[in-house]
Amino acid sequence: MKRIKVALAGNPNAGKTSLFNAITGAHQHVGNYPGVTVEKKEGLTSVGGQTLQVIDLPGTYSLTAYSLEELVARNFIINERPDVVVSVVDASNLERNLYLTVQLMELGVPLVIALNMMDLAEQRGLKIDLDKLARGLKVAVVPTVARSGKGIRELLEATLKVAEEGGEWHPLDISYGPDVDETVRRILDRVSLDQGRWGPVGPRWVAVKCIEGDGEVIGQIESEPGLAEKILPLCREVEAHLEKTLDAYPEGIIAEYRYGFIASLVREAVQRTFQNRIDLTDKIDRVLTHRLLGPLILLGVLYGIYEFVFWASEGPVGWLESLFGWLGAAAGGVLPPGLVRSLVVSGVIDGMGGVLGFAPLIMFMFFTIAIMEDSGYLARVAFLLDRVLRAFGLHGNSVMAMIVSGGISGGCAVPGVMATRTIKDPKARLATILTVPMMNCGAKLPVYGLLIAAFFAARQAGMMFALTLISWSLVLLAALILRRTVLKGEQAPFVMELPPYRLPTLKGLLIHTWERTWQYVRKAGTVILAVSVVMWALMTFPGPSREEEAAWRVKVDSAPTEEAKAGQRAARAEAVLAGTAAGRAGRWLTAVTEPLGFDWRVNVALVGGFAAKEVVASTLATAYSLGGETQGEGLSERLRKTESWSPLKAFTLMIFVMIYAPCFVTVVMIRRETGSWGWALFAVAYTTSLAYLAALIVSQGGLALGLG
Ligand code: GDP
Ligand code: MG
Repeated sequence: MKRIKVALAGNPNAGKTSLFNAITGAHQHVGNYPGVTVEKKEGLTSVGGQTLQVIDLPGTYSLTAYSLEELVARNFIINERPDVVVSVVDASNLERNLYLTVQLMELGVPLVIALNMMDLAEQRGLKIDLDKLARGLKVAVVPTVARSGKGIRELLEATLKVAEEGGEWHPLDISYGPDVDETVRRILDRVSLDQGRWGPVGPRWVAVKCIEGDGEVIGQIESEPGLAEKILPLCREVEAHLEKTLDAYPEGIIAEYRYGFIASLVREAVQRTFQNRIDLTDKIDRVLTHRLLGPLILLGVLYGIYEFVFWASEGPVGWLESLFGWLGAAAGGVLPPGLVRSLVVSGVIDGMGGVLGFAPLIMFMFFTIAIMEDSGYLARVAFLLDRVLRAFGLHGNSVMAMIVSGGISGGCAVPGVMATRTIKDPKARLATILTVPMMNCGAKLPVYGLLIAAFFAARQAGMMFALTLISWSLVLLAALILRRTVLKGEQAPFVMELPPYRLPTLKGLLIHTWERTWQYVRKAGTVILAVSVVMWALMTFPGPSREEEAAWRVKVDSAPTEEAKAGQRAARAEAVLAGTAAGRAGRWLTAVTEPLGFDWRVNVALVGGFAAKEVVASTLATAYSLGGETQGEGLSERLRKTESWSPLKAFTLMIFVMIYAPCFVTVVMIRRETGSWGWALFAVAYTTSLAYLAALIVSQGGLALGLG
């Protein structure tokens, strides 16, 4: 039975040997090409009942007669006439590799292209349209990964199919430009370079090679009597002409036209997703990181985000609030009056509701941050702010820590403090660690959400936007002061990297959003729940004494109307709450917080907030739940109706919550990252002092302006 002879041709390192090994396995034979010391590897394999004899040709970039390898490869093809040549092409370097392929096509040998290194091509962002490539070249194209053996079977099948087509040679006929084309035509007119004389190659190939100045072909022409005088003058003529007009050798011109042919093909068939993205990224960045436009767009984006988040979460937050209100009322109806009912309704349901109710807000916030992050815009934000930060003695890398901590609302200072590890300048790093807890982390959001909904419902996004700007200003200002005082020192230079933009995938966005939202919900269900119960206990015990209780009962009973009775009941609840451990501590603290306008309930909430900032919201919820008689009504609603509350008080509280002591976990993290309790305590002390000062300015300033 006839063996089918298959030769593997390709550039060095295209993966020929890997492919050869994958095809032939152990059935290999190594020898030399006749007369030369170029290694010749042969091997056998069978496919579709046929035996293939595979030869690994020397790796070459071209088929000229300049090097031994090229000559060996070319002569093997011309003289041994393999049934099929498999052109092994490195797909990640397509243009360069196809140069050899085109020369194989010029020869006309039956060809199959093994588009190897497809894995690399993909990694480099190349999308190759195999059909288009095959149609353009009129050659079968099979994608392979020689290293892992992927596509080998398909390659062998395609090879077999080409072999069965009869083995006729069809030289590729492309233009080499008017001068060369004209010369080729004239050579072919003058002499008959008939097929048989040159082996399987066509006369056109001989003519082109002659014009190229191929020593081997010219030698053969000279050995034919009478042929050289007819052809060589034409070749010299075009050579001289090209040199005169284009200052180029025919060989160069012909190579250019081959590359031109390849380039037009590749342009059609290959999508350089990466390169395209880089080009597009440059264009987008010219606007988004523009010195003037960039910051303006950033502010616009930020404002847009808050508009969107409040708009999108308004409905769901309301539903959840009603749900928790309904749950509280239902539990209150089922459970008998007493401590258990109080714990479940006021401690657990209202406390949790105060935090979990804002899960939709948090979720939409995380969603927009995920869009910014996944698209690559967040890196631009860092880039833009880098310039600003330098003025405040911070490092460019600080931006990431700030954003992670809540620079766009909804981060967390714990990973934020950890993110400072990339800052190499130790003083800039310390300044960043000590200031990022003032960013608006996700835990502060329910507090803001509660107070904004209660008192600034008409300007939700604007308020959030303002709080963001305030926290950035404070962080920068604090950093500047730190860098001028306790953390004096030079700044290290730094280069920011801007990855290309990419279109975020919905799946990626949903995963990012879900991960972070779930973290928030889980925290609410564990830490916050525990702290909330503790706060409830502190706000319940010690209860009123028997005598006090009896005295209240008399007051309620002796009240003349139902309305008066309700009033007495409310007064009782208020007095009882004030008498508890938390109530006493809160009242004791009012000596300090009086000028800020904070009552003892707020004080209790703030103390609880040191465990986690969400607790400020949950504690307020519990406190107002314990103190009030009404059920099934949202806390925002309750606060709005409470006389001692005002927009100014709400705003003062938001400012205080923004700035004051980092939560407990963050403090521990600061200790870990700075290696010193000193810095951790310093962070608590200076932020709380700053919070007090800022809140004092806001509340007293507000009162002076008549905003109370
Ligand atoms: P040759 O010079 O054409 O014989 O190429 P080799 O077979 O020696 O391969 C050159 C290098 O490319 C080796 O390190 C191979 O492991 C690697 N290689 C070959 N094929 C693939 C492939 O499909 N994907 C990847 N990633 N690497 C490959
Ligand atoms: Mg090799």
